[in-house]
Amino acid sequence: MTFAIAGLLMICSCTAQQKPSKTNHMEEKKNNPVFSRTSSDKVEISEEEWKKLLSPEQFYIARQKGTERPWTSHFETSTEVGTYYCVACGYTLFKSNTKFDSGCGWPSFFEPVSKKSIIYTADNTLGMRRTEVQCGRCKAHLGHVFNDGPPPTGLRYCINGVSLGFEKKGE
Ligand SMILES: [Zn+2]
Repeated sequence: MTFAIAGLLMICSCTAQQKPSKTNHMEEKKNNPVFSRTSSDKVEISEEEWKKLLSPEQFYIARQKGTERPWTSHFETSTEVGTYYCVACGYTLFKSNTKFDSGCGWPSFFEPVSKKSIIYTADNTLGMRRTEVQCGRCKAHLGHVFNDGPPPTGLRYCINGVSLGFEKKGE
């Protein structure tokens, strides 16, 4: 794992803007007082405060509704067994057994852990009618949900890997 991260860092170092998402799960917890893997209390802090807690890339995507470039998240192809959570606040969002290979370039899931994991909002920007999905605890922007997913839900939660952290089963 460590070697893979080092390799990614070297590959990506030529494009300063694109920090590899793989560093997420090491950056997220330090000095972040709202991060909790157990609390479901809503998090409402200012964007200024978020800016201090998140990396520039995480802030851009999770708080400013940015979109990572497709095929840049190592989560996209990951088949590790465990739980995906909000990188900003630690709230549990998806289980690895609901992840599927959509081929769209972003980590994709067909079902969130629970109904309250996700906030759904109509997004009519960019001339498209889409449904934005946000973290149910801190409203971090995660991505969008589309109705072209596999059974049993028929849904495809198309999620920015930058907005996710991952906890391996058993850890
Ligand atoms: Zn969150």
